[in-house]
Amino acid sequence: MKTTGLYIHVPFCVRKCSYCSFYSIERDEVLLTRFRYMLLAEMERKAAGVNIGTVYAGGGTPTILSPEFWSEFLTTLDRVADISDVLELTIETNPGAVLPDTLAEFRKAGFNRLSIGIQSFAYSELKTLGRIHNPDQAILTFNQARDTGFQNIGIDLMYGIPNQTPDDWQSNLKKAIELSPEHISCYELSIENGTPIADLVDNGELSKPPEEHCREMYFLADEFLKEAGYIHYEVSNYASGDENISRHNSSYWNRTPYIGLGPSAHSFDGKRTRSWNVCEIDGYLNLIENDRSPVEETEYLDSKEIALEMLMLGLRWKAGVDIEEVKVSTGFRINEQYLDSMIGSGKVQVSGSLIMPTTKGMLFADGDAANLIEDLP
Ligand code: SF4
Repeated sequence: MKTTGLYIHVPFCVRKCSYCSFYSIERDEVLLTRFRYMLLAEMERKAAGVNIGTVYAGGGTPTILSPEFWSEFLTTLDRVADISDVLELTIETNPGAVLPDTLAEFRKAGFNRLSIGIQSFAYSELKTLGRIHNPDQAILTFNQARDTGFQNIGIDLMYGIPNQTPDDWQSNLKKAIELSPEHISCYELSIENGTPIADLVDNGELSKPPEEHCREMYFLADEFLKEAGYIHYEVSNYASGDENISRHNSSYWNRTPYIGLGPSAHSFDGKRTRSWNVCEIDGYLNLIENDRSPVEETEYLDSKEIALEMLMLGLRWKAGVDIEEVKVSTGFRINEQYLDSMIGSGKVQVSGSLIMPTTKGMLFADGDAANLIEDLP
């Protein structure tokens, strides 16, 4: 039986980064106090009796909540849900937002994996991104996490930052490798409307590196990190061994059910039903305080949407997608001609009914998934 992932969105940060389009607000003590109670209440309601497989505290900056709170959260989870199968409990943090003593307390509270939002080791790039930390703090936080007993640490890096060259990116990758994290995520900066960085780009004060440089940086990461022994297992993710592939994130890619807690968090039943919570903290708190559900909307995927999702997710990670499984579960077939063109252009390899993307193919997953579906007669 499939277990269920538990994601907790903590919508507070020390300060908003210039590129951030996630729902998060600056730390507010009054809201934080209310949020602690309501998060526990939502968890007790949604996770009761559920067999939980992974726990992921993200955000936002979840280490803004104290280790004592997280200890209480995990103890309550143990009381209301079945957590005997949980192997991975991740908490995200950001350099400059956590103290070394506190890191040890998060470990004691039960988290066995730490994900650190380093983003860059270059002072000017961190400044452009509006991050609160400098490169020394990034390295310090990583080393302190190691010293306090975290044996599974992931770091996030970003490429495609204004003024960043492929050489700059290469030097970030080298510094990341020197730290020997178990997991590295490399995301391309996306300029989202309504963010301060988007205004600077619109005004011509900043510009993203050219598309060909961003493409070069994607392939540089693949080359460099593979050479250092990492497995490129998903378009943006690398692990130092199979045992360090993020179990929680894998559950999104193989359509395992998950429960989302907190403002804007999504839940999925592993079949065709997806729902999401209201985005704003006030609305979220008011609904739960009044004993009402924080779910804003529920969508039911039809067979074509499920087929598309299976292909899109499968073409983003090295495990690939089983086209027989797509056919049996949705009735949709694959356009053989288009598949041949993907093989011809080196985007995928095929073994039996399994289509597995190459490094190049992972980049085109979304468009290729739509073209691969043969419309029903
Ligand atoms: S720390 Fe992360 S969630 Fe918080 S503002 Fe920055 S990018 Fe957004």
